[in-house]
Amino acid sequence: MDRLPGQTEAEKGITDMFSKYAVDFTEEFTFETEQDFLYISDPNTYELYYISIAEGRPIPAGWQNYQGKTCYEVLQQRDSPCPFCTNRLLNAEQYYVWEHYNKITGRNYILKDKLLDWHGKRVRLEIVMDITGEERAKAVLLGSLESQGVLMNCVEALAAGTGTATALQGILRMIGTFYHAGWAYLHYFTHQDAQGAVLHWQGDPSAAPVQPLLKDPSPRALEQWAAIFSDNRQSVLWDTEGLRADNPLLYACLRRQGVRNACFTPIFVGERLAGLVCLYNITAHWKELSILNPLAKYISGQIGRDEVEQRNRRLMYYDEVTGYQNFEWYRRRAAEILAANPDTPYALWYCDLKNFKYINDVFGYDVGNRILRYWANLIADDLDEGEAFARISADNFTALRRYRGMGQVESMFFGLVERLATFQEAADRRFRLELASGVYLMRQPADRLSLDEMMNRANMAQKSVKNKSGSRYAVYSDGMRARVLRDMQMQGEMQEALRRGEFILHLQPQVALTVEGYQAPDYAEALVRWQKREGALIMPGEFIGLFERNGMIVELDRYVFEQACRYLRDVRGRRSRPLCLAVNVSRISMLQPDFIEAYCRVKDRYGIRPGEVELEFTENIAVENYEQFRDIILSLHRNGVGCAMDDFGTGQSSLNVLKNLPISVLKLDRQFFAPADDPARGWAVISCVLELARKLGMNTVAEGIESTEQVRTLRGMGCKYVQGFIFSKPLPPEAFESFDWLQAEKL
Ligand code: C2E
Ligand code: MG
Ligand code: MG
Repeated sequence: MDRLPGQTEAEKGITDMFSKYAVDFTEEFTFETEQDFLYISDPNTYELYYISIAEGRPIPAGWQNYQGKTCYEVLQQRDSPCPFCTNRLLNAEQYYVWEHYNKITGRNYILKDKLLDWHGKRVRLEIVMDITGEERAKAVLLGSLESQGVLMNCVEALAAGTGTATALQGILRMIGTFYHAGWAYLHYFTHQDAQGAVLHWQGDPSAAPVQPLLKDPSPRALEQWAAIFSDNRQSVLWDTEGLRADNPLLYACLRRQGVRNACFTPIFVGERLAGLVCLYNITAHWKELSILNPLAKYISGQIGRDEVEQRNRRLMYYDEVTGYQNFEWYRRRAAEILAANPDTPYALWYCDLKNFKYINDVFGYDVGNRILRYWANLIADDLDEGEAFARISADNFTALRRYRGMGQVESMFFGLVERLATFQEAADRRFRLELASGVYLMRQPADRLSLDEMMNRANMAQKSVKNKSGSRYAVYSDGMRARVLRDMQMQGEMQEALRRGEFILHLQPQVALTVEGYQAPDYAEALVRWQKREGALIMPGEFIGLFERNGMIVELDRYVFEQACRYLRDVRGRRSRPLCLAVNVSRISMLQPDFIEAYCRVKDRYGIRPGEVELEFTENIAVENYEQFRDIILSLHRNGVGCAMDDFGTGQSSLNVLKNLPISVLKLDRQFFAPADDPARGWAVISCVLELARKLGMNTVAEGIESTEQVRTLRGMGCKYVQGFIFSKPLPPEAFESFDWLQAEKL
């Protein structure tokens, strides 16, 4: 054969040898007497394709020109098939063995028949062995039995379940011993990279081990060899002397190692040549080499199963998206690491990419996946020995890392954040990738809990920062856990509390600074409190966020609104001046499709007049749901309900929003009035905002006012109303009703 491009001299030498010594049937070696022969015929048409007889034996009369004739014509001199023809009984798995006495020759024969694939055809193979004479019959029988015994033992070894490597090692020993060979080895070409694995057995343990023909055959060579060995061919080299003339390199190599003869049997897994069973220096049972073929099939079955299992295991522990091991694997690995390092402090991280849903929605899943891979690479590169990480699901990752103090936790986190921000595709779009992470610290052995519990805690810590801006991490504390447990408890109790009327209103006066006559109504904000039966009064800061997250806020907001309307109706008779209540509405409540309808129904049920109730929306609603928000306030206006923009200055509304929305009240958040480094600048901003609101025809309320100084300044700047502790805290209705408005307005 010609050397292929890129093929080495050694590869070519081996290919040539395989091809030169390839034999279709090692059964041919079983011929011992002149009577023995084998033939191949067509199982349907009886056409004879091939006859083989022992070397040196004269060809019987009539056999020379068998091509194109039938087996019964040539071998039996009949003009129709033999009545005892076995064709219909045969299969490819095993021999059909029978005995036949030939009346013409007066001899006894053992006949072994089976089907096999040969040069692209399914054919019948019959081996005819003369067993006339006791000695001969015994020899054939014994050889056959012995080889069957070896084959059975080998199959048993594979079936024993001791692992493929152990079984194969046992098999090499068994066949090596059976053939009295110098060496038996199995060269296994693993399929990803053709990296050869070799199992050895040698008859003389003190001899030097023989080298495999070629450690890593190229894929091209493997293909060529597969073609040579197809159809169950083996390559049998009677005498390595035969290589001397045309294969000097291989000759020298084998001879140097003392190899005098060799038999190579292929192991196919499907179409792929997966390995070779190699026997060197065979000194017994040449006739039984044919059992190596079925043996190779059993081995191939085992290797095939192992490969499938390996692939499944790889898939089981592999994350398609990141290309790294998955969470299942991480669980095991983390347990191993912790067990192996009982005294080492570790940190368990839970990381979440912020706005990942947004990234997927806006940039597409491809970009999203690339980000996940990029992020996984960053973590993988950052990892040290004895650390591990995996993606849990979606954009959540976890990592087990050594803990070397808070400084290291901090620098590790921000180091990763910095590198994360360099992801080109996001940077190109001016999108900054951010991280929300939680850490559970195992500073001492007592901190070690089950992995689930520790993940849970890291997750809890992560949740505490996930709604804050920028990249952040939080370290788990028992306080967090207490908070989560309390949240869960509140969530469980809320429905019942609503039913029992435990949610009550406190009213905080909004005092007019620019008195426009006593006909102006008094304003107050209704603020909810949870009055527990056991006496505790819970402030909205403790539960509003939770109820916004779990959706219960919708029910609570409607309840509060109804309570406010009822109070307005009931209080009318007791007041000298009209009252207007401002009620808070969450974003989720406002987004309900029946929002307007439901609120108007309640308002009408209590006979609330125009100007008696006002709804407060936070600034962010105006930006995030601009169109919807605009429709809603217009609709509320038509229904006589005023709208206030709450917490103005804390969100991100643009002046444009103010320009286009017919909001009646602007509530300056109390942050405006918090102590500042340069109060003059703060007041400059406030005065501008007040001026702007005045020009846009909006009323203004300054929130969180605590000093007379502030009141005076605000009055000077034309702020219309003030809501703050300087006048009153939010009060229970009875206390609110005795609030002295006139006194307050004079302040
Ligand atoms: P908000 O709507 O901005 O209400 C004003 C908050 O500022 C009230 O806190 C009030 O007690 C507080 N405050 C008023 N004056 C001062 C002051 O001079 N100094 C200080 N430090 N604080 C002052 P509160 O009652 O704890 O309510 C907190 C938040 O809970 C409210 O902020 C509002 O966003 C929310 N909230 C209250 N009730 C409801 C409700 O029924 N529904 C919804 N969705 N949210 C509500
Ligand atoms: Mg409010
Ligand atoms: Mg506010």
